[in-house]
Amino acid sequence: MSDMKKKVAVLGATGSIGKSTLDIIRHNSDDFEPVLFTANTNREALLCLGREFPGVPLAFSGGADGLDGIAYYGKEGLLRAVAECGADIAVNGIAGSAGLEPSLAAIEAGYTVALANKETVVMAGPLVFKRAEEKKVNILPVDSEHSAIFHLINAYGRENIDRIFLTASGGPFRTYSKEKLAQVSVQEALAHPTWKMGPKISLDSATMANKGLEVIEACRFFNMAPEEITVLVHPQSIVHSMIRLRNNAVYAQFSRPDMRLPIQEALYWPETKPSPFGALDFSQLSLEFAKPDGERFPMLPLAYEAAVRGGLYPLVYNAANEIAAETFLKEGIHFLDIPRIVRYVMERDWQGSCFNLETILETDREARQIALSLVIKKI
Ligand code: NDP
Repeated sequence: MSDMKKKVAVLGATGSIGKSTLDIIRHNSDDFEPVLFTANTNREALLCLGREFPGVPLAFSGGADGLDGIAYYGKEGLLRAVAECGADIAVNGIAGSAGLEPSLAAIEAGYTVALANKETVVMAGPLVFKRAEEKKVNILPVDSEHSAIFHLINAYGRENIDRIFLTASGGPFRTYSKEKLAQVSVQEALAHPTWKMGPKISLDSATMANKGLEVIEACRFFNMAPEEITVLVHPQSIVHSMIRLRNNAVYAQFSRPDMRLPIQEALYWPETKPSPFGALDFSQLSLEFAKPDGERFPMLPLAYEAAVRGGLYPLVYNAANEIAAETFLKEGIHFLDIPRIVRYVMERDWQGSCFNLETILETDREARQIALSLVIKKI
């Protein structure tokens, strides 16, 4: 790295990805300096960061001016903050569809984007990658599976690869019967066996919607057809993903399940630095792989369907899932209602340009409305 510190905007600084990013910034203060922190509801935690890093602007998208030293308010304030912060790299750890416009703002400003917010790619991949190419901006995946594939592709060449294996922990209900799945509580759904993450992605891991979103993300990130991507249930979460070359050789990335590693990889990219996160002891490992069960976890086949139909269908899948997941987390519907709602919304005819932000946002609103109407009927 050059002598200059990399300027990092931390979007979603109060969340799980945000905290891991801050951990890396704190431990590598000679290499990185934060230039923006954003939060949505957790004003106290944001102000606390402001005290720890005096002078770094704060953006609080979920509220109005409280005369407490926060420079930017509301959604417009968040987008302005991204545009004005002068970062070299923006880590987008905002949860859900709210991450899309900040990603676009970072691209427009010419920053490298370290993308944890998979919804950016699922909702608007074609537009996002087109703008990134036009602006000569790098988008680096932070999702552990996609980070693994990104580095494997860099090592072996995209043209030599004929299959991606995306690994999935299988979530807390991997071994549950359908009858048992019908009864699960919010608390059980949030208890992820291997990863510590925010509530929405934890629930998505339990339904396997997270893996569904990642299949779509992988298609768009690496220009793969859905049928070239195989999901494997791997409960230990040690192999983060694999590629198969045309000669049938398979290459994998192994590491402990700790998001700080892919975040660090993105922050230092194209360099690789030593990490303090602990090496694997292979003598203690026993690794399993199994085929996922689409019958018990229909969110996975529904994601493949969305990926095959392409266009706006991935966006619709995500929007319907966000409404269903939010309602489940408020105990408004049962676990198995989530895929029913998503299937219902996807049955509509969704046509339109996925290169146009207005169309994208309008379709997102419409799909949410339809999902909500179904949720209300169920409640
Ligand atoms: P969290 O729920 O822990 O954190 C979300 C962050 O986004 C918080 O800072 C939150 O602010 C902010 N936020 C939430 N809603 C909005 C909104 N409407 N507008 C602006 N900011 C908002 O989520 P995670 O860190 O777990 O996940 C973040 C993203 O990273 C997701 O897209 C997820 O899929 C992805 N990801 C996460 C992984 C993980 O290990 N956690 C792994 C791989 C991908 P506040 O706290 O103030 O409400």
